[in-house]
Amino acid sequence: RASAGEEANIPRWVRVNALRSSVEDQLETTFAAYKRTTELQEVIRSPPGATRLVYIDPHVPNLLAVTQGTDLTKTDAYGAGKIILQDKASCFPAYLLDPRSEDGDVVDACAAPGNKTTHLAAVLHGHRPEFESAPQTIFAFEKDSRRAQTLEKMVRIAGSRKQTVIAPGQDFLQVDPEADKYKDVGVLLLDPSCSGSGIVGRDSMPELHLPDALDKQSQGKGAPPPKNGQTVRKRKHGEVEKGEKEASQNLLIDDEGNETVVNSSKDLQARLEALSSFQLIILLHAFKFPSAKRITYSTCSVHAAENERVVMKALQSDIARRRGWRILRRDDQVSGLRDWDVRGLPEECGGDTEIAEGCIRSHKGDGRGVMGFF
Ligand code: SAM
Repeated sequence: RASAGEEANIPRWVRVNALRSSVEDQLETTFAAYKRTTELQEVIRSPPGATRLVYIDPHVPNLLAVTQGTDLTKTDAYGAGKIILQDKASCFPAYLLDPRSEDGDVVDACAAPGNKTTHLAAVLHGHRPEFESAPQTIFAFEKDSRRAQTLEKMVRIAGSRKQTVIAPGQDFLQVDPEADKYKDVGVLLLDPSCSGSGIVGRDSMPELHLPDALDKQSQGKGAPPPKNGQTVRKRKHGEVEKGEKEASQNLLIDDEGNETVVNSSKDLQARLEALSSFQLIILLHAFKFPSAKRITYSTCSVHAAENERVVMKALQSDIARRRGWRILRRDDQVSGLRDWDVRGLPEECGGDTEIAEGCIRSHKGDGRGVMGFF
């Protein structure tokens, strides 16, 4: 579970929404009482009650790290969509994809709640401020209709409604890449469901030795214990109900809050296999868009099974070979991320260091103040 230390090592990351505001504007308003620092560690370590600090991130444009402890959701800027609370690593995909007007339309395949959809809109706007009237569309697909409502709301508040076509309840895998309306899709962002093991507050490997904790839980609730591998219900990120603390150590909670009972490493492996098969299918489907030039694939998982191994299998597929899909070399990546030195695992990339270097990772608890991400 979350260790207090793990959470204490994370600042509050704030993405300034370029569609509604600017870093300068936010430094003068929302963060006017904060002191500027060039040391991220100072922000991470600033104790409660001390002067609040703000740091401008050197890797991702329009990203700030501020002292934890203030509820920024109560600020005017948050209510007006000027700031979005988004972990630094979660800002990598849209920035790395770097959609430009010459790339044509954009797809966000698994979009809710919309952090990356709204970031894509902001990146487009940055390249072309007249974007409001530009005939360039972000197609945002979301299979879960309930989650699509959150996406709708977020896109509206962030000011990217005009550019974004939301398809609530739309399974990306049922979208026909050859359809006329997608003929100009040049870039795709894939951020599919994953184990969520990189989220701060989640174990990468749940404890596997507490079978009687589940019995206790079921006695308390008068319900039979769920079967191994069965998804039992959804919960919000980080939510742990009273009396469930012990039992929750047997639950794998994914990035959407689905719980799966995991009582053995076999269960965990089965869950990872199911997730990675789905992730690979999503990636192979994206390869089929006729005008596609660039794709980002991301997860908030620490497991190579969901990350490098999915990428390697995708690259070895027939369609990848036929269409010439390859990893974008580190040197060809956007400048801020070229400088980010945490890269893919070479041993999971068949020893190919160029592929590993093309992959970007982050590790929670390594002092960089971010979640585990790929
Ligand atoms: N990109 C989002 C963001 O940054 O806010 C987070 C996406 S979340 C990791 C994955 C989302 O994909 C979930 O909302 C899930 O319902 C959706 N999803 C899963 N399978 C899908 C599919 N086949 N087609 C479309 N959406 C899907």
